[in-house]
Amino acid sequence: SGRFEKPSESKQKITFADVAGQDNAKREVSELVEFLREPERFARVGAQVPHGVLLMGPPGTGKTLLARALAGEAEVPFFSTSGSEFIEVFVGVGAGRVRKMFEAARAAAPSIIFIDELDSIGRTRGTGLGGGHDEREQTLNQILAELDGFSGKEAVVVLAATNRPDVLDSALLRPGRFDRHVTLNLPDKAARRAILDIHAKDLPLAPEVDLDTVASGTPGFSGADLKNLLNEAAITAARTSGDMVRAADIEEARDKVMMGTVRTLAIQP
Ligand code: ATP
Repeated sequence: SGRFEKPSESKQKITFADVAGQDNAKREVSELVEFLREPERFARVGAQVPHGVLLMGPPGTGKTLLARALAGEAEVPFFSTSGSEFIEVFVGVGAGRVRKMFEAARAAAPSIIFIDELDSIGRTRGTGLGGGHDEREQTLNQILAELDGFSGKEAVVVLAATNRPDVLDSALLRPGRFDRHVTLNLPDKAARRAILDIHAKDLPLAPEVDLDTVASGTPGFSGADLKNLLNEAAITAARTSGDMVRAADIEEARDKVMMGTVRTLAIQP
C-alpha cells in the first residue's frame, strides 16, 4: 500500500556516509541533492532535472539504502513501495495506489518516490501467461502516465530499483521516464572492508578478529550478505562464547551465509 515517512519521523537519518563503496552511484545520485533542496533555483533558469532514475544492480548492493540516503541528505519526505506489493491485487487497485502515492508526493514536494523491484510490475507488456496480467499492465500504465504528467518544475524525484533491467518494458526507459541509469556493483575487497567497518561499529569484536582477513575471505558477498554475516556471528557469540564476537564465530557465520548465497544464486533465472 506504500509507506510514507516525514524526515523527522524516520527512525534515524540515513546519509551517504552509511553507504560504503558505490562511489560512482553515490556521485550520480548526489547531484540530485541540490535540486531537491532548492528546486526554485533550477526552475528559475529553466533547467530540466531528471525525474526518473533507475538504480540497477544485484540484490543487496544498497539500492534501497542509497535512495533513503538521498532523502536523508536532501531532508525531504520519502514515499516508498515495492513492485511485489502489486502482485495479486484486484484489477484497478494497483493503479489507484500508484495514483494516490504520486498525488501525495506532489503535495509534499520536494519529495522522493522509491519503487523497489520495479521489474515485478515493469516487465515487457503482453508477455504474461494470461490470467491476471491485465492488472499488472494497468499498474505499469499508471506509472508511465504519472511520469509523463510531471511538468518540468515539479520537484519530485522517482527512483526505481531493479536487478533485472533486461526484462523491463522499453516504454519505462524512454526519455522523460526512467532515463537516467545508475549501476551498483558487488563490492570489491576494499569496499567489503568499508561495509564491514560500518556494520561492526557497535559490535564487541575480540582482539584476534581482523576485518581485512574477513574482507579477503568473502568475495562475491553483497553489502546485505556482509551485514548478515556480522549479525549471524553476533548471534552465535551470544549463544556460545559470551561477551565478544570471535574469529571463530565469524568463520561459522561465513559458511552459513555462503550456503545461503549458493541457494539464492541457484534459483535465479
Ligand atoms: P534488493 O535488491 O535485495 O532490494 P538492495 O540493493 O536494495 O537489495 P539494500 O536493501 O539497500 O539492498 O541492502 C540491504 C542492507 O544491506 C542495507 O540496509 C545495509 O544495511 C546493507 N548494505 C548493502 N549495501 C551496503 C553498502 N554499500 N554499504 C553499507 N551497507 C550496505
